[in-house]
Amino acid sequence: MAYSSWFQCIEPSCGERYDVFEVVYRCRKCGELLEVVHDEAELRKTSAAEWKTRFDSRIRSNEWPFGSGVWCRKEMVLPQLRDENVVSMFEGASNLLWAERFGKQLGLDELWVKQCGNSHTGSFKDLGMTVLVSVVKEMRARGKDIPAVACASTGDTSAALAAYCAAAGIPAIVLLPRNKVSLAQLVQPISNGAIVLSLDTDFDGCMRTVQELTERENIYLANSMNSLRIEGQKTVGMEIVQQSDWKVPDTIVIPGGNLGNVSALGKGFLLMESLGMVKKRPRIVVAQAENANPLYLAWRNGFRSFEPVQAKTTLASAIQIGNPVSYRKAVRTLQEFDGIVEQASEEELADASARADRTGMFNCPHTGVALAALIKLRERGVVRSGEHVVVISTAHGLKFADQKAAYHQKKIEGIASRYANQPIELPNDLGKVRDALRRAIEETAEAREAESRAAGAAS
Ligand SMILES: *Cc1c(COP(=O)(O)O)cnc(C)c1O
Ligand SMILES: [Zn+2]
Repeated sequence: MAYSSWFQCIEPSCGERYDVFEVVYRCRKCGELLEVVHDEAELRKTSAAEWKTRFDSRIRSNEWPFGSGVWCRKEMVLPQLRDENVVSMFEGASNLLWAERFGKQLGLDELWVKQCGNSHTGSFKDLGMTVLVSVVKEMRARGKDIPAVACASTGDTSAALAAYCAAAGIPAIVLLPRNKVSLAQLVQPISNGAIVLSLDTDFDGCMRTVQELTERENIYLANSMNSLRIEGQKTVGMEIVQQSDWKVPDTIVIPGGNLGNVSALGKGFLLMESLGMVKKRPRIVVAQAENANPLYLAWRNGFRSFEPVQAKTTLASAIQIGNPVSYRKAVRTLQEFDGIVEQASEEELADASARADRTGMFNCPHTGVALAALIKLRERGVVRSGEHVVVISTAHGLKFADQKAAYHQKKIEGIASRYANQPIELPNDLGKVRDALRRAIEETAEAREAESRAAGAAS
């Protein structure tokens, strides 16, 4: 069958189309963002039941590249790509964790956390980068002169770009602001052999330079206005439904910064709906850090106007963005999915993350923002007990070990660290060890009792 897809301008009155193997990031006629559109009539020739069976038989299988959570849906992601040009590291197919104990604390029997950070480079950025780098490989194979791929990012995007390019043998360029990124953020692109430029500027300065560079040279731009990444990221919602025996959750909570990921989530659901694979839509909640909350502010005024904000420092560094590139796409998604935007203070996000960790998770601060938003929505009764809720966890907690340690050491300014857990320092003396353990075990038992009382009140 001749499945096909193309880039299309998101402005309905324009609708200009471009080939998916063309180097184009924004509409050349009107300057708006592009999105990948699929020939749905062709996809509809296969029944919904057949698609489900096909995805189920492929995911996690050894039939390369279809075992990947992205490429098991290749016909709906980028059908024209030749299989030999797929650059996959078995992304997606991540655990949908039943947060049984934490859910009970919130009066939710059906709380699930989609662990997108359990991935090759430790964040959901792998879902999009596999598509982008595969397209670059295909374009190079077709003779296009693309000597390298570049991005400006301090964190997860550069890690994903560096890894996928290294796997494909394509040079990657990462622009970082000198002395403004942590060792953890630097070490992934360094290890993967990317060309790492450390510039005397801030993140916005790196962004301007990479955009100018990619306009003038043949270097391909991998930043988040590139809509190929959305095609990979849209599989997260498809995968959540697949892992829920094809049932659609009532509510999905997702942290948002540049807002590409929330629009991707919605896009995956709309495609499934159009193909008859799902019959209802989840409500989508975007969670923002109060220190970088332009979408929250716009939502509060009914999207009548949008003002970029000066983002303040937040522990949730990947969403410290004041002027999100994908604002328009995100608004469209929120309007289509009965959306809500909620925000979380630094203390709320750190406490929510630590509190959930105590039930066995190991959350990144962005997941903390989403969990804090959920807690607030439960307290206000907006999310009701009995709802089937999924929280999207965007990165692995180990990427943020420093700040998690600082929380437990009560070293984060302005945060009381209510859920801190500190090592008990003692001489190596059996009597003292036993006394300390007796006290600690009693305290744990008291805490468990308080928890079950609170859970009773919550439901
Ligand atoms: C990129 C990123 C986000 C934000 O995604 P957007 O598409 O920019 O809204 C959230 N969490 C983590 C860990 C990320 O890397
Ligand atoms: Zn246009």
